[in-house]
Amino acid sequence: MDKIVSLCKRRGFIFPSSEIYGGLASTFDYGPLGVELKRNVKAAWWKAVVHDRDDMVGLDASILMHPDVWKASGHTDSFNDILVDCKKCKNRCREDHIVGGKCPHCGGKEFTKGRAFNLMLKTHLGAVEDGASLAYLRPETAQGIFVNFRNVMDTTSRKLPFGIAQIGKAFRNEVTTGNYTFRMREFEQMEIEYFTKPEDAEGCHKQWIEDRLNWFHDLGIRKENLRLREHGKNELAHYAKACSDIEYQFPFGWSELEGIANRTDFDLKQHSKFSGKDLQYQDKVTNERFFPYVIEPSGGVDRATLAFLADAYHEEEVEGRTRVVLKLSKQLAPTKAAVLPLLKKNNDIVVLAKNIKKDLEQCFTTVYDDTAAIGKLYRRQDEVGTFFCVTVDVDSLEDRKVTVRERDTMEQQRIALDHLKTYLIEKLSN
Ligand code: ATP
Repeated sequence: MDKIVSLCKRRGFIFPSSEIYGGLASTFDYGPLGVELKRNVKAAWWKAVVHDRDDMVGLDASILMHPDVWKASGHTDSFNDILVDCKKCKNRCREDHIVGGKCPHCGGKEFTKGRAFNLMLKTHLGAVEDGASLAYLRPETAQGIFVNFRNVMDTTSRKLPFGIAQIGKAFRNEVTTGNYTFRMREFEQMEIEYFTKPEDAEGCHKQWIEDRLNWFHDLGIRKENLRLREHGKNELAHYAKACSDIEYQFPFGWSELEGIANRTDFDLKQHSKFSGKDLQYQDKVTNERFFPYVIEPSGGVDRATLAFLADAYHEEEVEGRTRVVLKLSKQLAPTKAAVLPLLKKNNDIVVLAKNIKKDLEQCFTTVYDDTAAIGKLYRRQDEVGTFFCVTVDVDSLEDRKVTVRERDTMEQQRIALDHLKTYLIEKLSN
């Protein structure tokens, strides 16, 4: 994990938040490469779950919502972690994080009685800070979907089964922090609420588990690093009928990447009850009215991004040196091509290289770099997962060809400038 954290800092993927002020616990900023990677993760998700499907639409609800939303959802009363203090080292930790009865900090075995701690972050809206102005920063994006269920139904005339997808920020006052971007106080979620007839819910649940597992795998995560964990009956939220977590083998152990739950008709019923608005679905053929069941694949953008980074990190021995290479998939690699002039003192080479860069960046993310010798430039690009290096040399001025080096195989080929763009596009879309 230290190697990944160091690479992320050194090469501009992830920085500690407010670093010049000493940082703020469990908050992080994405740097120039990190933001590209994260945007690619979100774009791949959106394409897979919205654009490539006929049964899904998107939504972008606000972070601030009416406080009654959280009463209806149960968050005000029960979005709690149970905390205990270790009597030996006085550290506070989550009761469910104690393994074998031992304090995770000092191994102590005596704890205070558990106390509930609500994870929602509070704020006040308007000029007066009193109970009436209290609002919460949403602890999940899901509720924005439920409260818009009728709006989406009325404006899109959807028939069951159909789903609504959303990507957005969520906030939790996490007590147990650490493990880098795995557990943050401000993070992004990618959530789907998929509405079905109750009798179809079990089948849809199974299908979503399979689809979501395949999504991670198709984007490059090795199968042996992914597993499913079905929640035991005692672990399930009171409204959930079933839930399976997709877990990834992070360097710090197997941990949840995404949860896929059958939430029954709990949420729509609760919001109907608390808002007084009828959120039932009416079947247009039978005229029957009922509350649909909901399957919820709920993932974190940051956890997914961390898993993609961890899985892509490779160290290889090449000609007596260690080559660090991020084998990110084509869709996720922040930069698809780097154009490198072999001699930066030769103006003709530089001009040609810059023109190639301009041309390629119309189609995919491309950078130009002439700040080191070619060997070092290759190593830099490998380390950040750039898919191709395009090198312009003296011969390029004569034969109008460039050397294209592929990241994973390090194979080099001379490609005619006229064909360069189509050659790279073909390779990237294969
Ligand atoms: P955990 O048990 O690890 O606290 P959770 O079961 O509370 O997670 P959910 O409420 O199911 O998490 O949230 C859905 C997804 O949102 C998680 O699978 C995870 O990817 C992401 N997520 C939740 N909390 C955080 C956090 N503090 N930091 C980063 N991502 C998070």
